[in-house]
Amino acid sequence: MSMDKRSLYDGLNQLEAELQNSLNNLGEMKQSLQEIVEKNTTLELENQRLREHIRELNLVADAPAESAKQELSKSRMNLEKIYEEGFHVCYDLYGSRREHDEPCAFCLEVIYRESGK
Ligand SMILES: [Zn+2]
Repeated sequence: MSMDKRSLYDGLNQLEAELQNSLNNLGEMKQSLQEIVEKNTTLELENQRLREHIRELNLVADAPAESAKQELSKSRMNLEKIYEEGFHVCYDLYGSRREHDEPCAFCLEVIYRESGK
């Protein structure tokens, strides 16, 4: 009888260690996923910025003012969408997660600043 208790105890200890190990792995995987998502968002934003910049350069060269305005509001809507999905679009933090969807004045500045520098 006491042997049974002992092997039960050993078994539980082993199971506990395995669960702890799995929990650690889960934590690491979650962390990696978070990093990948943030990196992806950063790249998306960077890509968008570069495209905007190319567009601006082209617009300055040869487009009528009205379509320049339309392009600007389109890229602004993209930034707004990313912000509403819970990521920073401001220069210092862009691509990182807005914890608990905290509002960020710098992001809002980027999205809603007046056009025309
Ligand atoms: Zn921000």
